[in-house]
Amino acid sequence: MKLKFLGTAAAEAIPALWCECEVCRKAKIRGGKEIRRRCSYLLDDDTLIDFGPDAYWQSIEFGIDLPSIDRIVFTHSHEDHLNPVDLFWRNSPCFSRVTKPLTVIGSRRIFGTIMVHAGAAGVSDFATLHLRPVPALPGERMRDGDLELLPLRANHDPHSDPLIYVFTRGGKSVLVANDTGWLSEESWKLLDGVKLDAAVIECTGAIQGAQWRDGHMGAETSVAFRKRLVESGSLAPDAPVAVNHFSHNGGANHDDLVKYFAPHGIEVAWDGFTLEV
Ligand SMILES: [Zn+2]
Ligand SMILES: [Zn+2]
Ligand SMILES: [Zn+2]
Repeated sequence: MKLKFLGTAAAEAIPALWCECEVCRKAKIRGGKEIRRRCSYLLDDDTLIDFGPDAYWQSIEFGIDLPSIDRIVFTHSHEDHLNPVDLFWRNSPCFSRVTKPLTVIGSRRIFGTIMVHAGAAGVSDFATLHLRPVPALPGERMRDGDLELLPLRANHDPHSDPLIYVFTRGGKSVLVANDTGWLSEESWKLLDGVKLDAAVIECTGAIQGAQWRDGHMGAETSVAFRKRLVESGSLAPDAPVAVNHFSHNGGANHDDLVKYFAPHGIEVAWDGFTLEV
């Protein structure tokens, strides 16, 4: 399985659109890995994980043919992960020529958010957008084509109905864990013992918010999260682990993060980074 990071920032992106902070100032000067779009991934060549406000730019930059995508898996309904406006352009034949249906997997809040926007424009059904909604429930394994998913309840704004996922395909499993703080005992119980070949752990608070543990994680908690996965036997000590979903409010540029995480065997993701298992 190949997981490509299309965006590695939290909601405001880096540099944040309106921000005058030091992290954003340096990011603008340095460019390259410092430029972080809103968090999203391409799994192999057929699955997007989240579809936020940078989806158009990401599809052009990374050469993704959106009409050929089979499914989008949503983590939660926050605006940096779900942009119903760009999904609405699937309205066919009004705005686009669309023949292939797109499966949309996520919690019910996702479908509500998509339809609130579509409804305001006079569309009241998924068929007009050629979308096939498939609800994901925490703790209930599911399959779409040859992709297996284990959704787990995240520790994040409950109004966004947040989930993290274990994706399994071809005998390999990857955990994608953003946006979330330290998991509940209920979610740990479901995750403990699940064999993982790689993990993506969120790190919104980065270094300034290193101890963030509820709603989001900071660097210290991200390290503890990896340790817990290794100690529970889910993850081999040498398995690839990357941190992701950084906020400029975390007070760290890319090299600060690399310096912090290198001794912990954790890679710092950047837009275009690929994790392969
Ligand atoms: Zn987010
Ligand atoms: Zn800033
Ligand atoms: Zn969020």
